[in-house]
Amino acid sequence: MGASTVLISEVGPRDGLQSVARSMATADKCAWIDALVAAGLSEIEVGSFVPARLLPQMADIDAVVAHALGHPGLRVMALVPNLRGAEAAVAAGVHKITIPVSASEAHSMANVRRTRAQMVDEVAAIVYMRQQHAPQLGVEVGVSTAFGCTLQGRVAEDDVLRMAAQLAAAGVDEVGLSDTTGMANPAQVRRLFTRLRSEIGARAGAAHLHNTRGLGLANCLAAWDAGVATFDASLGGLGGCPYAPGASGNVVTEDLVFMFEAMGVRTGVSLERLIAARVPLQRGLPGEPIYGMTPEAGLPKGFRDV
Ligand code: ZN
Repeated sequence: MGASTVLISEVGPRDGLQSVARSMATADKCAWIDALVAAGLSEIEVGSFVPARLLPQMADIDAVVAHALGHPGLRVMALVPNLRGAEAAVAAGVHKITIPVSASEAHSMANVRRTRAQMVDEVAAIVYMRQQHAPQLGVEVGVSTAFGCTLQGRVAEDDVLRMAAQLAAAGVDEVGLSDTTGMANPAQVRRLFTRLRSEIGARAGAAHLHNTRGLGLANCLAAWDAGVATFDASLGGLGGCPYAPGASGNVVTEDLVFMFEAMGVRTGVSLERLIAARVPLQRGLPGEPIYGMTPEAGLPKGFRDV
């Protein structure tokens, strides 16, 4: 049995928008974030601090962070790939950063042109910067390709755990596991998160799972069973894997909240307002396909919304 309360960390404005070719206007992003907060989401990854020439969708990150910081009680998160990004995030005032570090050497080289060992050093440099300049900053690492990699295929579980141990030793607060390419299955998810907890204890962090092959919710349930209490999800399943046509990428926030609330696991999120938050998302990205079974079917009779 898992936790009786879970934290749903909304990653749509980052993971979602970075995988859509078009840019959403700043005002639309802000209206979308407002609707997510109104639904009760208390942690939102609002974008990434990456060079605008690489990801023009994130060029307005400073303005989006400034807007999000206006919501009292909201934990404003951003993704940073390196120390420079972390410094920019601190300057913008984010509460927590997440750093992706690949468990697959091939993915690490292709994605950031650095080896895994170099990335562990980069994370240590970020932790040192926090000590010096931003002691209140939360620092999380998501171990990407933890369940498999499209470039190298299988990723050894021992490699994932060794990376997690090195990153925990480097001083980050939490190390989570990410199914970046949608290859995970529930048995693997349960096993790897159980091993992660025995390896790094309370520093074991979020599950970032995708729905590329329809196993998103099953994988979340397996992670919950293994003691995970923080789940990344994306409204409308925006983002994830553009190379799997017809499949949503990220786990759909609406479906994940429905699953947990129907089980009696508290999320603090109102499903009606969450479904309403699809309107500003679609307004900002007209014609972009979004997913979710719960919004299509509606809430069942007798379902008690938050
Ligand atoms: Zn993702």
